[in-house]
Amino acid sequence: MGRITVFLQHKMNQPKRYLITSALPYANGPKHIGHLAGAYLPADVYVRYLRAQQRDVVYVCGSDEHGAAITIQAMKEKTTPKEIVDKYHALLQSNMQDLGISFDIYHRTSSPIHHETAQEFFTALNEKGDLELKETEQYYDEEAKTFLADRYIIGTCPVCSNTNAFGDQCEKCGTSLSPEQLINPRSTLSGNPPSKKTTTHWYLPLNKHEDFLRKWILEEHQSDWKANVLGQCKSWLDNGLQPRAVTRDLDWGVPVPVKDAIGKVLYVWFDAPIGYISATKQWAIDHQKDWRPYWEDKETKLVHFIGKDNIVFHCIIFPVMLQLHGNILPENVPSNEFMNLEGDKMSTSRGWSIEMDEYIQDFVKKENGGDMLVDALRYYLIAIAPETKDSEFTWKGFQDSVNSELVAIFGNFVNRTFVLMHKLCNGKVPPLHNNLLDEKDNALLRDMASAKANVEANLEGYKFRDALFEVIDLARKGNKYMQEKEPWIVAKNIGADGMPTPEAQQKIDNCLHLCLQLTANLAILINPFLPFSAKKMCHMMKVVDKMLDWENAGKANLLKVGYSLRAPELLFRKIEDAEVTAQIEKLKNKSKHIMDTTPTPSTDASTTASTIKETIQFDDFAKIDLKTGTIVSAEKVEKADKLLKLEVDLGFETRTIVSGIALHFEPAAIIGQKVVVVTNLAPRKMRGIESNGMILMAENPDGKLHFINGDALVANGASVS
Ligand SMILES: [Zn+2]
Repeated sequence: MGRITVFLQHKMNQPKRYLITSALPYANGPKHIGHLAGAYLPADVYVRYLRAQQRDVVYVCGSDEHGAAITIQAMKEKTTPKEIVDKYHALLQSNMQDLGISFDIYHRTSSPIHHETAQEFFTALNEKGDLELKETEQYYDEEAKTFLADRYIIGTCPVCSNTNAFGDQCEKCGTSLSPEQLINPRSTLSGNPPSKKTTTHWYLPLNKHEDFLRKWILEEHQSDWKANVLGQCKSWLDNGLQPRAVTRDLDWGVPVPVKDAIGKVLYVWFDAPIGYISATKQWAIDHQKDWRPYWEDKETKLVHFIGKDNIVFHCIIFPVMLQLHGNILPENVPSNEFMNLEGDKMSTSRGWSIEMDEYIQDFVKKENGGDMLVDALRYYLIAIAPETKDSEFTWKGFQDSVNSELVAIFGNFVNRTFVLMHKLCNGKVPPLHNNLLDEKDNALLRDMASAKANVEANLEGYKFRDALFEVIDLARKGNKYMQEKEPWIVAKNIGADGMPTPEAQQKIDNCLHLCLQLTANLAILINPFLPFSAKKMCHMMKVVDKMLDWENAGKANLLKVGYSLRAPELLFRKIEDAEVTAQIEKLKNKSKHIMDTTPTPSTDASTTASTIKETIQFDDFAKIDLKTGTIVSAEKVEKADKLLKLEVDLGFETRTIVSGIALHFEPAAIIGQKVVVVTNLAPRKMRGIESNGMILMAENPDGKLHFINGDALVANGASVS
């Protein structure tokens, strides 16, 4: 074998190297496919495309492991923050890998190298005088003796009256809040109303950098950044930037590297993006490279892939930090909008989500060759990517997209080509008879060449949907070409020997030769999007992955004449109706289950009351909505000795409640009775009647039941706490 010389093409305007980042996912729980579609999948497609071009590219990401959301999750799971981040870091890393996200490094912000990097960064800015010290009053829990992060304060949402809104956001209605806006704020630690106490913090005076930001974003990047990104930046700038606290009082995070700054850590928004730098450093150590050019050389193209909730951090705050620290700035921040799910906002906390892990368990790990279902998901998520506006995932849409595009167009073309090549050309790449090339053949050759250019232009412009559409369109053209050439009909022109006539065979050869070259092209073009399928196609064509190099796209001589190819393999499979139904059902049940945070209703009067149950946090208690009411009607439930069907007036509405008290009370005797009702219990059907709540009862040691009824003067609908 001769020596292989690699010629490095250096196109004009082509950056020397690329550093690509995806938003660091928060290691406080599983992440859903909306996240995947927003920040990971498009970056992965872009990176795979750059790699196929042999460009110098590093793709970094990692778990964001600091902040109050981690410590709160630890409280919820009754464990330590460390256990939480270890658990979810491992989960996220394996999920991303299963879904083909090809990070060069998936790092974590709890690592020593990150702590060091973030501290150095802070110190550099602090010593240059770029930060300001300020005294402020912050919420404090006297009993727990600690300052309270916004997340540690709950109260009633001023917008929707949800009694458990957080100090930074109401998860019920989605409104962004500050702790000051909450009605009846209370600490999640002690349950007490918080007090205010003076504390000192470092601030990044963003207001001083408005001119730089305006010029850099609104002038220099006016034409190459996405409109949704520019729009958000402009509105932030127009509203006036404020100094932003860089540090906070918390015991979980990167300690502030200043003497006497005890109990203070870097604010998670400050340390998290520095995670991109520390990840690059770790990658460089692992591969004996120099990390510096990736963050310091202006010939590096830095691109941040994020969702729209992260625009302000990556377009305004982090660039100010980078600028002050002497680093390069991002070339682009192609942020996506949100992906909704079956008519509602995707939300893990409300259970209205498809977690990456769920998809992997339900589809990928369940069957052999589950990789094809990874590509099916990647396909649909890119096809409906929320690039310019919010989009919507529906299971029916997923099914339609997979069945009518991936299976019926792309998979069908490749499969037909291989089947016919084995049937009509002895399983070998047939020759091309140039003298017989007609206009349809030439058109197909031109389509191959232009598809490459179109896909490339769209990928360079971060238009992943359009790029994918071009690939599918090329497969569609292949199908049309084959349909018009109908080699299976041409094969019926047989001679005396029962074989197709020489002229017929030449026509068949040309058709299948071109279809096979097109298949090779499709493998190259689809590779950034559906890497598992591209690999499978290489296997069928008996070529090495090297064939997938981008420079090969557009060429019509990729498969050598006479080369024998393998049998076709199934590239994709149809999504069945039953799978769609099952997933929709699952989604509804999950959401219902999560929203029903109260314990299982107990209408069984035989429960022993003397046992004391496990201690709960105030938070747990506060989830139960108790209200006073009056029983306005009561009747026996047919064929159920224990049950009474009650109508209870709650002031704001009258509820039907089925209660297991029929052995203790005559229906007529309890009409007018004051009661306390659990009003936010999930509805439950008993003997065909939907019960919407539970009446509180006390059971004496002798087994007799008594109503918990309080003062007769209390109005119906009053809250009990
Ligand atoms: Zn609300």
